[in-house]
Amino acid sequence: EEFLRIDKLVKTFGGNQVVKGVDLSFNKGEFVSLLGPSGCGKTTILRMIAGFERPDSGRILVEGKDISGLAPNQRKIGMVFQAYALFPNMNVADNIGFGLKIAGMPKPQREARIEEMLQLIGLSGYGKRYPFELSGGQQQRVALARALAPSPRMLLLDEPLSALDAKIRVSLREQIRQIQRELGITTVFVTHDQEEALSISDRIVVLNTGNVEQFGQPFEIYNRPQTRFVATFVGTLNTLNATVADAGAKTVTLGGTTVTIPALPASARNGEAVALTMRPEAVSLANGATRDIVLDGKVAEVSFLGSVIRLKVDLGDNAVNLDTFNDQRTPPPAHGAPVRIGIASSDVLVLER
Ligand code: ADP
Ligand code: MG
Repeated sequence: EEFLRIDKLVKTFGGNQVVKGVDLSFNKGEFVSLLGPSGCGKTTILRMIAGFERPDSGRILVEGKDISGLAPNQRKIGMVFQAYALFPNMNVADNIGFGLKIAGMPKPQREARIEEMLQLIGLSGYGKRYPFELSGGQQQRVALARALAPSPRMLLLDEPLSALDAKIRVSLREQIRQIQRELGITTVFVTHDQEEALSISDRIVVLNTGNVEQFGQPFEIYNRPQTRFVATFVGTLNTLNATVADAGAKTVTLGGTTVTIPALPASARNGEAVALTMRPEAVSLANGATRDIVLDGKVAEVSFLGSVIRLKVDLGDNAVNLDTFNDQRTPPPAHGAPVRIGIASSDVLVLER
């Protein structure tokens, strides 16, 4: 069921078009991330949804109604910013109750709602404290409670975790997701961190210089990137240079052998150079396993990442990263050791743009 619809949204700052005709549709209760590098327009899109920024053209519809004419406080949208936007001179309870007071909610109801919000964020008993007495993670939970207290119909989060330490960042993102599920509130979460977006989103919008590159579930974005930008921005990508052998038969020559690549586009021409791309986990140490692309090389780098061990293998003309599962028994091959790698040709992508 469609909840939020963005139609041909355009925004220009001083002659520089930073949002270039964005179309999106989000479902009710969905958790969607806007993911992209710094400056790609994420905050600008969020601020247009919230009403702090006016689009040059295009429409924003909530449940089918254009909200362009509404002031920010009429949109029933809660927003949390990157860092510590709490009122420093107000205690936690007054921060959380701020929007309720503005809306004229009587004190007894306001106090009950504040208590409910404190419980939701796991900070019961913290009402009388001041922001400076709280950790960064606790302050962001209070900011979340303040945004949620007036029961908004949508929640917008602009890099709410980026100022926090790595451990807190992971635990807080899980809490945010849990609270979001509990309330069933449609949420737009802005981040430049691909791992963060992949781990918590129902769907991800990958943005690049004001355009949508791809919109899909984490599984699709990671495994089936549609553009080179998405493939390299989200995760690690291997590129092997090959030459088209027979375009009709979808074969290429690679490392002196001819292999069939199902993903070879119809536009390929014989003799043309083509970049084959694949994720590190699509490459394995052959060890007798049947893979249709088999290449010999030498270990150039060994990175121990914990649950996986990543090897960089030098293939002469090419190099690939591959991940091996850490079984806690088999030590990784030594630097410089000869290895044979295998790739399933069905895991190979050929990205044309
Ligand atoms: P992101 O949040 O993805 O980092 P922003 O939406 O903040 O990107 O910014 C997109 C582009 O618009 C950037 O080049 C930024 O410098 C520019 N920009 C954002 N806000 C303004 C503004 N108020 N005035 C002028 N330029 C702006
Ligand atoms: Mg931003």
